[in-house]
Amino acid sequence: MKRILVARSSMPALSEYVDEIRSLWDSHWLTNMGEKHEQFAKELKDYLSVPYISLFCNGHMGLELLIQAMDFPAGSEIITTPFTFASTTHAIVRNNLVPVFCDIREDNFTIDSCKIEECITEKTVAILPVHVYGNVCDVEGIERIAIKYGLKVLYDAAHAFGVRYKEKGIGNYGDASMFSFHATKVFNSIEGGGVTFKEERIGKRLYQLKNFGIRSEEIIDAVGANGKMNEFVAAMGICNLRHIDEEIEKRKHVYERYVKNLKGVNGIKIPIQNTDVLPNFAYFPIVFEGYRFDRNEIYESLRNENIYVRKYFYPLTNEFECYKKLFDTKQIPIAHNISNHVLTLPMYADLDFTDVDKICDIILGKGRA
Ligand SMILES: *Cc1c(COP(=O)(O)O)cnc(C)c1O
Repeated sequence: MKRILVARSSMPALSEYVDEIRSLWDSHWLTNMGEKHEQFAKELKDYLSVPYISLFCNGHMGLELLIQAMDFPAGSEIITTPFTFASTTHAIVRNNLVPVFCDIREDNFTIDSCKIEECITEKTVAILPVHVYGNVCDVEGIERIAIKYGLKVLYDAAHAFGVRYKEKGIGNYGDASMFSFHATKVFNSIEGGGVTFKEERIGKRLYQLKNFGIRSEEIIDAVGANGKMNEFVAAMGICNLRHIDEEIEKRKHVYERYVKNLKGVNGIKIPIQNTDVLPNFAYFPIVFEGYRFDRNEIYESLRNENIYVRKYFYPLTNEFECYKKLFDTKQIPIAHNISNHVLTLPMYADLDFTDVDKICDIILGKGRA
């Protein structure tokens, strides 16, 4: 039986990739900010309509080093949400900082900006919201709070590649944003990531930190890591970027097919697009609220048909074994509720409509008593 996974990586034609990497056999320059890296960075900057971008071997490393670049005192607090991938919380904790978990909004699962102020203490230094599933956070509300309290705003925009809000690239909001180019994301360079930011100064610091903290040949004055993107990865990114608009358009059709099948079904909440947002159709999460089957039952029924959906995001990050009892958590009833009832359905450009229909039939219990 055919296996359907929640995501399937977009790839260029093999010949297109081979053409792209051919010049590397002349240059023998395989990594350390070579020609492909520079070209990819420039093309991304244009595509995302941002002033600056720094590339990384993956999104997580970008986020971790971005936080390090801010030089927050150890033990400072960062307000974030637990309804996200492990990376967001790990990036904070690995910098010896303390995540403070704020609840999410019922309608789009991003941080509830009305609840941020009650999380602020004298130790708070930043807000790290997540544009979860590519849904845009309340960027204006968050900015007002950040200005009022003098906080930095660093977005986890791993899901939000290509998303625009009020005609601006999403990376223009906040001090900086991290995008992931992991194989399972809307746009991929196999692995990879980019941090977009507003101040040139941040770019210098990120460059140093992703290259072992080396300032010059004999001066190493920061405890850096190795976060560089190599030339083969950049070449894959260059190829995939040529086709990204087409890929997002195909995702849109899959989205519309799901909506057609599942709209108006009692007890199933489906994603609605905000009119100010140019979406990327990254994920198709549905929430079961008083539906005739529960989330775990549907998960199992789909699995029995070789359809591998995911419970994104369950468990919440604050409930991970490594964090339990480590951080006290504010009241986060909505995050708990969504996490217990959400299911993320397969979503990728080449997903057949017949498969979408089959998935929906199983969810709707067709052929079941
Ligand atoms: C994928 C992802 C990351 C990490 O990105 P990688 O490129 O896989 O390191 C971070 N945050 C969120 C929300 C993600 O989904």
